[in-house]
Amino acid sequence: MCFSRVNHSKGVIKFDGKQIITTRFGAIPVIVHRPIPDGMTIKTATITKKADGYYVSFSLEDKSVPSLISTENIKTAVGIDVGLKEFLTTNTGETVSVPKFYRKSQSNLARKQKKASRKEIGSNNWRAAQNRIARLHQHIARQREDFHYKTAHKLVKEYDMIAVENLNIRGLAKNTKLSKSIYDVAWGAFIEKLNAVAAVRGVHLIKINPHNTSQNCSNCGQKVPKTLSVRIHSCPKCQVVLDRDENVAINILNKALNEVGIILSACGGLDGGQPVKQETSANED
Ligand SMILES: [Zn+2]
Repeated sequence: MCFSRVNHSKGVIKFDGKQIITTRFGAIPVIVHRPIPDGMTIKTATITKKADGYYVSFSLEDKSVPSLISTENIKTAVGIDVGLKEFLTTNTGETVSVPKFYRKSQSNLARKQKKASRKEIGSNNWRAAQNRIARLHQHIARQREDFHYKTAHKLVKEYDMIAVENLNIRGLAKNTKLSKSIYDVAWGAFIEKLNAVAAVRGVHLIKINPHNTSQNCSNCGQKVPKTLSVRIHSCPKCQVVLDRDENVAINILNKALNEVGIILSACGGLDGGQPVKQETSANED
């Protein structure tokens, strides 16, 4: 159920911080998971039934629009590559591993499914067993969401500018297998959250065209063709040897710096610990 007006004189639903008051059902006490932040106006309410009960979610309006950090004030920047081997790899070679939530819950899920299969379909016991399965799926989804938010907050706290690949472009450009598109969905969900978290802090999120980011040498620009199974980037021209994903992340960062128009030597801040080289940002492609 959706309500387009909350706490409005003509609306049918109100929230007083402790309970939901509807004209139809009266006052219903709620568990408030997160208080409404100061300065926010509640716009809409959605009531949904989930495996473990009913939920009310509000959409909020924040009138104070944060301004983006100005280009000359960008002091730290990071390029990140999302992938199958690691959840993400940065241009400095730092990695965040793929969380194993699903795998960890797999045996638990199989056990619950087996139990459910022994119940008479449609019976109360069957219904209860189905609910336990749904709750486990919900638990896994929440763990994943939590992981996405934590990772996004960590990046946004640390950097003024974050560069990622535009996954939509890649999805269209390449024939993706089903399994990979599932991963893509998870990355897409992560990038979406990263976008929201970055916007609140005025951090730049630059989405670059992924064309050639995995093939080109991040050090000299030479095209070094390699299949997905080749995990090391080894450049025959400049002899640089890098982890495949790290090479991609550096290319992503360089493309983004190019796009924003930050020239490293003139920027001043973007040195020390940032192994990015100015000449690579002049690469065509
Ligand atoms: Zn090279």
